[in-house]
Amino acid sequence: MNVRTRIAPSPTGDPHVGTAYIALFNLCFARQHGGKFILRIEDTDQQRSTDESEAAILASLRWLGLEWDEGPDVGGPHAPYRQSERSGIYRQHADILLERGHAFRCFCTSERLDALRREQQAAQQTPGYDGHCLALDAADVERRVAAGESHVVRMKVPREGVCVVQDMLRGEISIEWSQVDMQVLLKADGMPTYHLANVVDDHLMEITHVLRGEEWINSAPKHMLLYQYFGWQMPALCHMPLLRNPDKSKLSKRKNPTSILYYRRMGYLPEALLNYLGRMGWSMPDEREKFTLAEMLANFAIERVSLGGPVFDLAKLDWLNALWIRENLSLDQLADRLQEWALNRDNLLQLLPHLQPRMERLSDFAPAAAFLASGMLPLTEAHFAAWTDRDALVRQLQFTQWRLESVTPWERDRIFAAVKALAEEMGLKIRDFLAPLFIAIAGTSATISVIDSMHMLGSDLSRARVRHAIEMLGGVSKKKLKDVEKAYAALGGPPA
Ligand code: GLU
Repeated sequence: MNVRTRIAPSPTGDPHVGTAYIALFNLCFARQHGGKFILRIEDTDQQRSTDESEAAILASLRWLGLEWDEGPDVGGPHAPYRQSERSGIYRQHADILLERGHAFRCFCTSERLDALRREQQAAQQTPGYDGHCLALDAADVERRVAAGESHVVRMKVPREGVCVVQDMLRGEISIEWSQVDMQVLLKADGMPTYHLANVVDDHLMEITHVLRGEEWINSAPKHMLLYQYFGWQMPALCHMPLLRNPDKSKLSKRKNPTSILYYRRMGYLPEALLNYLGRMGWSMPDEREKFTLAEMLANFAIERVSLGGPVFDLAKLDWLNALWIRENLSLDQLADRLQEWALNRDNLLQLLPHLQPRMERLSDFAPAAAFLASGMLPLTEAHFAAWTDRDALVRQLQFTQWRLESVTPWERDRIFAAVKALAEEMGLKIRDFLAPLFIAIAGTSATISVIDSMHMLGSDLSRARVRHAIEMLGGVSKKKLKDVEKAYAALGGPPA
């Protein structure tokens, strides 16, 4: 068999470490079998997908040293590799399912579906479509379609029995069909949902093994059914354990930086980060912790993946990164890395418009730029001595951290608009509002605009610095958290 695996990221935000983790295992699995590794962009959510996000995902995966054989940028026999360029293919396939009676058109309004969901919630039933439009007669459907009435296409799903899916790591997974929703396949705008596009593309792109995150297990019955409806063979499924925070909750950007851009910005070496991702749920036969991608490839066996949720532990990553810096780089190479990392021309040209007006001597550069090339700042209570009401200060920083989470894309004007709106909602003058933010972000207020600083630092590092300041100030206790969340929700901005 020609093994073909793929990674199928949706370009809706910063490149996630989880994407790199799944990409790494797909790459290893394909290479181990002399197969191919494909990158496909799943951008069917047109509202949330952006070109910047796609570019950042490709660049971050490459930075880590992950290479794909086919993809939107390198082409390949199954091009295009971007789902937004394949919508005709999905419509044709939805038609096939309609013709064969495996799918149906649904004209239900969002009001009806909302009311249905509320009823089901009140009765403590699993929310899901109730099959209302299954009963429509064919002539009626035809007339409504011809009249241009808005509708979606849903798949039929058995109401009884148990669906059994095979997983390479977990064996048989049983899910009752009654728990599986009559999934929308084609939206009212003619765009496919993830499920239809994913199955159609995995088949057309001849994917043989799907290694993906555990969060997709519940989609497997729908996918299995679609493969049956089309009369296609389903690829082997392998659901990888999710990365976790040290408290074992799912890795989330609220508790831990999740963007690859953050790790790059913090000065982790790509080899070290990739090595660390390879340690997530997997180990070398001799249990050694430090290994290269080539060594991982040479020793790879999917059976060695263990399902206990791997913890993404920053202290462990620091330890490993230090080993890579000390043991694997000559001084020459370290000099190159530093230059490439912070002192490259692009960085300088982004920074200098802000620093030039403040420079009297070239030697003013390093101190002024230091906070931009740092990780966490050595903040102390004394930095915030001007604020006597600590509770109010911590609350304001916490609100800011939450508000910054909603800024996408991370553009200067959006950052400013978000911060300004929050200051207004809190009844604070922007100057007063920004003062503690300056300290959290730059360690001083005598520096360039804090909005520009945050823009250059990136979303995750900016938020990590605010979080660091909050923690240094004693943090928000579990007891107070509810109140702080309530107060934030009452402000009327995006939900916490
Ligand atoms: N587009 C999905 C994602 O964002 C792909 C899931 C899959 O691998 O099937 O992760």
